[in-house]
Amino acid sequence: MARRKTVNKTGILRVEGIPYHDAWVAYKCVSCQEMNYVQVGQQLLTPQEAIENAVWKCENCGYVHSKETDLPFDNWEEEYNSADSTTALRFWEGFFRIATEHPESYWKQCNVCTRILPFNAFSKHSDWGPLEKQMECRSCKGAINAVLNPKRTKEQLHESAVRRRIADLFLEEENESIDFKDLFKRFDGRCFKTKEPLDINKRDTWAIDHILPSKYLYPLKKENAALLSRSANENKRDKWPSKFYTNNELIDLAKITGANIALISSKHPIMNHNIDVNRGVERYLQVREKSDLPKRIKEIKKILQVYDLVENLSAENKKLLGFK
Ligand SMILES: [Zn+2]
Ligand SMILES: [Zn+2]
Repeated sequence: MARRKTVNKTGILRVEGIPYHDAWVAYKCVSCQEMNYVQVGQQLLTPQEAIENAVWKCENCGYVHSKETDLPFDNWEEEYNSADSTTALRFWEGFFRIATEHPESYWKQCNVCTRILPFNAFSKHSDWGPLEKQMECRSCKGAINAVLNPKRTKEQLHESAVRRRIADLFLEEENESIDFKDLFKRFDGRCFKTKEPLDINKRDTWAIDHILPSKYLYPLKKENAALLSRSANENKRDKWPSKFYTNNELIDLAKITGANIALISSKHPIMNHNIDVNRGVERYLQVREKSDLPKRIKEIKKILQVYDLVENLSAENKKLLGFK
C-alpha cells in the first residue's frame, strides 16, 4: 500500500484509503480455522440480522458460514451437523452473536500499521465512527506519542546510562588521544558540518565528533574523529553517521579521515564486534559501585544480548554470566 507523501512531523505516516471508521467482523472459519475479516462498514449488525442474512465465505477454504449450511464437525453425530437440526441452528446463533453482539465484538483497521485488530486494540475517541475508537491502534499510538512526547522513563534513563558506562568500559583501552593541531589541519580549521571557522584556542566552541559512536562500540581514533562546532556536535551526538551527514559529506569525510566509506554510509547502525568483550566484562564486574553483583550481572547480560556479543565471550565468562 502506498504511503502518503505529506510532511509529518512525527515521521510515522498514515496509510491513505483505510476506512478507519469502518467496523469489521473477525471470525475463525468453522471448517479450516483460518481467520477471516468481514468489512461491515459504519452500520453495526445486530445478532438477529447476522443470523438471518449473513453469508460469510471463508477466504481460505470457501466454506460458507450461514445458518443454511451444514456444520463440518466430524466428531459430532452426523444428524447434529445437519443445517435443519436444532443443534446446528443453536450453533449458528451463537456463532453470529459472538461476532456482532456488542461494539466490543467488532474489529477495526489501523491506518498506520494497517492491521485489522480487535476493539480493545484501539483507544477511545468519542463520537468517532460507530465504534468510537481512534484511527490508529494502541501500538502505533504509543510510537506516535513517543515522538511527540519523548519523555523517557526513569528506568529507560538508567538503562541508557548503564549502556553508556558499559560501552566506555569496553573501549577504555582502545581510545586514542587525538592530536588537536593535526585535527584542525586536516579539517582546515572549520566545522565539518557548518563550515564555520573555529578557533583551536577556544576549546568550548568546538568538539570532536566520534563519527562512529561509542554507543555502537567504536573507539575514538584518528580515522573516527571529525571536527565540529560545539552546536553541530550537539545535534550529532551518538547518531549513526549516515543519519547526520549527507552522502557528499560522508564521501568527503572518508577522504579526510580514512574512515571506511561503506561502514559510515550504511543506512543502519552496525555494531562493532571487533572488540575485546571478555576484558570489558571483567572490568564491569570489578567496578565498585552501589549496585550489587547480581544486578550488574543482569545488566551486562542484557547489554551483551542486545549487542549480539554473547558468542564473543570466553567459555569461562559465558558460564560466569549464566549463558548456556
Ligand atoms: Zn475456512
Ligand atoms: Zn497500528
